[in-house]
Amino acid sequence: MAEQGPRFRRRGGEDLGGSLEYGLRKQILLAEYRRGLKMLDELCDAHPDLLRAARHKVGRAAETNCPICEVEQLWLVTYVFGKGLPPGGTCPGTKGELQKLLRRPDEVQCFEVEVCSACAWHHLVRRYPAGGIVPRKRTAR
Ligand SMILES: [Zn+2]
Repeated sequence: MAEQGPRFRRRGGEDLGGSLEYGLRKQILLAEYRRGLKMLDELCDAHPDLLRAARHKVGRAAETNCPICEVEQLWLVTYVFGKGLPPGGTCPGTKGELQKLLRRPDEVQCFEVEVCSACAWHHLVRRYPAGGIVPRKRTAR
């Protein structure tokens, strides 16, 4: 049965290991695409928030061009999950918002996603913790 929901594959929702693995997943996805096993609309369906952030250049430029349309430089956009944030995470739309999120006293999990603002390709690149800047006593159990 087709699932209705946000058009953002939350590959980050599970614990996926390191960036090496993400890179491997990308190679597999692209190989499947080239063999016709994956449709373009399965790969190029970045959430509007991701596209907006990429267009506003929130994050940093990737060193590579988009593997699908090959003309657009990829942009590395960060999705942030954490306490007090929406359950689906939040994608800051400005650099200031991003900095604010990364400096939260509570720890957040960041998912850096490469996004093509031309064709909407997106892929999780790495995951890293941020925030927790203010030293706080943790409630130990
Ligand atoms: Zn593209």
